[in-house]
Amino acid sequence: MAEFDVDLFVIGGGSGGVRAARIAAGHGARVMIAEEYRMGGTCVIRGCVPKKLFVIGSHFRQDLEDAAGFGWTVPPASFDWPTLIANKDKEIARLEAAYTTNVEKSGAQIVKSRAVIEDKHTVRLLENDKRITARYILIATGGAPNHGAAIPGIEHVISSNEAFHLARLPKRIVIQGGGYIALEFAGIFAGFGSDVTVIYRGDNILRGFDEDVRTHVRSEMEKQGITILTGCTVTRVDRHGESFTTHLSNGSSIGSDQVMFAIGRHPNVANLGLEKAGVAINPSNGGIAVDHFSRSSVDSIYAIGDVTHRFNLTPVAIREGHAFADTVFGKREVTVDHANIPTAVFSQPEVGTVGLTETEARAQFSHVDIYKTTFRPIKATMSGRDTRVLMKLVVDGSSDRVLGCHIVGDAAAEITQAVAIAVKMKATKADFDATIALHPTAAEELVTMRTPTARHVRQAAE
Ligand code: FAD
Ligand code: NDP
Repeated sequence: MAEFDVDLFVIGGGSGGVRAARIAAGHGARVMIAEEYRMGGTCVIRGCVPKKLFVIGSHFRQDLEDAAGFGWTVPPASFDWPTLIANKDKEIARLEAAYTTNVEKSGAQIVKSRAVIEDKHTVRLLENDKRITARYILIATGGAPNHGAAIPGIEHVISSNEAFHLARLPKRIVIQGGGYIALEFAGIFAGFGSDVTVIYRGDNILRGFDEDVRTHVRSEMEKQGITILTGCTVTRVDRHGESFTTHLSNGSSIGSDQVMFAIGRHPNVANLGLEKAGVAINPSNGGIAVDHFSRSSVDSIYAIGDVTHRFNLTPVAIREGHAFADTVFGKREVTVDHANIPTAVFSQPEVGTVGLTETEARAQFSHVDIYKTTFRPIKATMSGRDTRVLMKLVVDGSSDRVLGCHIVGDAAAEITQAVAIAVKMKATKADFDATIALHPTAAEELVTMRTPTARHVRQAAE
């Protein structure tokens, strides 16, 4: 009889857990994977995928408006929220089924239950109180929205989880937060026709992004009629039937039909039995502490994805899950290189970024050259839309290596994915210059910016 019921027990059927389960099963491991909600996890069920569908749907407002300059007469357009929700739900159900099938095809067994850890080799299924022993346990439980402080009226506030299932489109919505989710949903709701107010506690949105990106995207969003209030927080939310009054720390208040917070996410580490098994938490971020191989403080227990709170992005969770399975079951030690991860904020316009910001580069390198341009995209010349694209390269003036690329504008995410290959390969500015432009595109600016717009040389004494 085998020493353990399974070789691998995966807790969480999201991006990372599913990848790890499939690859481990492919390596011949006997795998069981528990999911307490829906297979596919955050990204598929209530994250990246439905969000992107909403972004695409909401962008038609601009497309329809822009068509007029090209000679189109578009009859007055109307939008039906229930149709959007129903079609989105259908697509998400299809994807959930595809995830389930793919896991089953790999030979891994799915159990629909919450799972908790009993000891370093045992997991308990809450659905039937069954105990399963495993040679290895992989924690891939992801994260969940932060609710913030217990201000009066916090029970009226929704998170992104609920935003995907609203019965009707709010006429007015207040969104607290200045990061990915707040700005993506601000663009979504504004595109569908809501009056949107963003409340952010700091002095400018997207802290941590390049300063030019922050300024540019804010001004573009404001041009579209989105109100962005900075330097304040929500202190109270009062409900009056179907509407709300949001009170702010600056003494003002705003009426709306919905209030949403998008103020970060926390790793799902609570009530998992981590203490019992001796799995340590990383004190600096609250996620499960792991080494380069995603191994926790207990040698039979690993953790990947958002629950480790390293880089909370789907492709990162997938890569970590794959590397874990190859290392533990594929006889091949694989680590994940977390440097130069490209990322996009699907705000409108969208942000694409890879590598260092200007501030980061100047702190690390003594000679930094900046190549920056803003320009009117060709479509706007005929549509008449008041919009500009931002493209910026951050270059190490000593080695000529391109350290960072930052774009705000249509297709910024698509462009950034390709540029990320060059940045990862340590391409130099000369390599960019040697590449012939593809015309007429916005991205050609990246290979035609010849003269630095700024040069920062740190003197030896500084
Ligand atoms: P998850 O996908 O969260 O999966 C964890 C799973 O574990 C969940 O299904 C959960 O139900 C299950 N679970 C938890 N505890 C237990 C338990 N005890 N027993 C059984 N099951 C359990 N990333 C991008 O790269 N691009 C994007 O555009 C993007 N957009 C996003 C938009 C939103 C609104 C949100 C919220 C996130 C977005 N993300 C995006 C982030 C991305 O969704 C996550 O980084 C990714 O899903 C993490 O994968 P994971 O496997 O670590 O966890
Ligand atoms: P972010 O970390 O991106 O942004 C959180 C925002 O909330 C920040 O502006 C932060 O301010 C603010 N905030 C934090 N705590 C408070 C508080 N107590 N009161 C008021 N404001 C507060 O988190 P999100 O929730 O937007 O998204 C979570 C993560 O999910 C992202 O970081 C990303 O990893 C992932 N994601 C990725 C997406 C993509 O790839 N396109 C899309 C959506 C999510 P401050 O900056 O001052 O700290």
